Amino acid sequence: MTQAMHRILVVEDDEAIRTVLRALLHSYRVVEAETVARALIEARTHQPDLLIVDLGLPDADGLELIQDVRSWSVVPIIVLSARAMEAQKVAALEAGADDYVTKPFSTPELIARVRAALRRSARGTERAPVVQLGEVTIDLSRREARATNKKIRFTPLEYRVLECLARQAGMIVTASQLIREVWGPDRSQDTQSLRACLKHLRQKIEPEPARPQYIITETGLGYRLRSSEVPGQVE
Ligand code: CA
Repeated sequence: MTQAMHRILVVEDDEAIRTVLRALLHSYRVVEAETVARALIEARTHQPDLLIVDLGLPDADGLELIQDVRSWSVVPIIVLSARAMEAQKVAALEAGADDYVTKPFSTPELIARVRAALRRSARGTERAPVVQLGEVTIDLSRREARATNKKIRFTPLEYRVLECLARQAGMIVTASQLIREVWGPDRSQDTQSLRACLKHLRQKIEPEPARPQYIITETGLGYRLRSSEVPGQVE
């Protein structure tokens, strides 16, 4: 699918920001909504490839929109909001958002996140993504990782954490999402096991484990796998 065919639903009540987004996303088909009620109609009518959602909307909280859309669609959702509280960001991610961009946003950063989200959704239709992290190649179909010519050995838990991050490469995965998927719902508070596992993973795949380039910590939110195909964040 070419970029021009991707349809993005922008849910934002601020006219000035919609204007900026319209210009920024000129190579995509942009559909706009100012309220949660309108957004639900547009989402069902247009079946967008990506949603960009503000949380502070006039008729309801953007979180309600995210929860509703998530109940019937796996479409990527990027939250674009001024809310700075970590708890609110985590709530949006837990409700099913894939990424979070804080207003005021840098335009290259938003574009990079949009591309990463659209790539993730394109990958969703393939069975076996290959993720490149510098010299390390992770082949999810063969369940193996190689550094140039040498095979890297992961424990089953390490591999599952890496797989979970790789399936959503470029997006934020919260700590509790990772724990739920890898250790199961009963261990939801076990951030210690997760941290230990990530430490080992970084030792295996990062050139400088103390300064990770690929498994990025998003403080207070979770983790993001920055693969080589993802342009990465613009500081
Ligand atoms: Ca708003």
